[in-house]
Amino acid sequence: MFDSYSGYRMYSRLAAYLLLCVVIGLLVGKPLWILILGLGGLLLWHYRQLARLNFWLWRDRKLTPPQGSGSWEGVFNGIYRLQGKNRRRLGQLAALLGRFRQGAEALPDAAIVLDSELNILWCNKLAQLMLGLVWPQDNGQRIDNLLRHPDFSLYIKAGKFKEPLELPSPVSDRRLIEIRIMGYGDRQMLLIARDITRIRQLEGMRKEFVANVSHELKTPLTVLQGYLEMMQSMAEPGSMNAKPLSLMQQQTQRMQSMVEQLLMLSRIEDASDINLEETVNMTLMMEVLKEEAMALAQDRYELTFSCEAGLDTHGNELQLRSACSNLISNAIRYTEPGGKITVKWQRVATGARFSVTDTGEGIAPQHINRLTERFYRVDSARSRQTGGTGLGLAIVKHALNHHHSELNISSDLGKGSTFSFVIPLHLLEQSK
Ligand code: ADP
Repeated sequence: MFDSYSGYRMYSRLAAYLLLCVVIGLLVGKPLWILILGLGGLLLWHYRQLARLNFWLWRDRKLTPPQGSGSWEGVFNGIYRLQGKNRRRLGQLAALLGRFRQGAEALPDAAIVLDSELNILWCNKLAQLMLGLVWPQDNGQRIDNLLRHPDFSLYIKAGKFKEPLELPSPVSDRRLIEIRIMGYGDRQMLLIARDITRIRQLEGMRKEFVANVSHELKTPLTVLQGYLEMMQSMAEPGSMNAKPLSLMQQQTQRMQSMVEQLLMLSRIEDASDINLEETVNMTLMMEVLKEEAMALAQDRYELTFSCEAGLDTHGNELQLRSACSNLISNAIRYTEPGGKITVKWQRVATGARFSVTDTGEGIAPQHINRLTERFYRVDSARSRQTGGTGLGLAIVKHALNHHHSELNISSDLGKGSTFSFVIPLHLLEQSK
């Protein structure tokens, strides 16, 4: 097929035509005139083909090209072939786009594609239902002009999209949505919003349930404990009942401390908007912590306390004390007698650091990230033996969260650990 449209063939046709003109010219005795006439005719014929091509490309609705002749046949057929190819490619692209859109519509979340200026390029149906967008009217609008919530504006302004944002749904106050923004491709962004009302409701129910059960268990346990103490004091020394009674008392004590820790945890979890204006006198608090630690250590450990004078912070005293005393009591409980425990409160570049370093058993690296989970214990038997509930570090984590801080753990198995946290500069008393 291509051979018949080759340049060689075109030139040989032209040469044959010119030769014919010259021969006819020679025969009639006017070779130049006949050649000029022939060339004029050739030009006219080419213009006619060009006009047919123009007509087909711009006016004619037919898909097939007009029948071309000579060198124009290749041009007509070539354009037709290219158009066919493009149509097929467009068809494939449209099918792909259709499949992608169907997939995006099947997503259980609202999805919005944004450009680098945060203008909406596309959104799925759930985005229209969940966020109240109207498609295609909202095409090209800036997302923060449509989702008008102060927290969302701040989130967009800060441009830190690592953490998701929770907002009340713009279409219903009773629903809660979680928004995530991810960058992709050429500075485009994908906004995903999901309804988390049910998750938050279940979380609330779980918290309420734990708090209620713990509260309800408190009184029966106190009664049990009281009667057990009475029975123990009445039991004859060396009687058969002495051992079971003492075991029962130990276990009730364990249950009591677990209930107390659970209540403390739900109290701390609930108090999400605590008053951080309160000033905490850290020198006084370190004194109290030292006395508590000495009572717990009973001269079996080498305790060192150092506190930078006048370094006070804003926050909730009860929560901070609970966090610090949990860390100190853990250090004592997970260090063999004779070990060394160092507690420090000192200024650092980013704020003020509280640290507890022990020379205890240490923790294997694979456990470190999970220690703040409720009831997570490296060795349950060891924890039980030391009177642990598995809730201490969960309490620490929540208390520190409220103070814009987090727990850092570094540990060397068999050598000891350091548990620390930094209270940021903006919460320190001097910085105000
Ligand atoms: P527990 O009441 O069991 O001590 P925590 O939440 O306070 O619960 O601690 C969780 C686990 O972390 C503990 O069971 C223990 O295995 C480990 N742990 C905590 N502090 C230390 C420490 N200073 N040294 C070694 N292990 C520790």
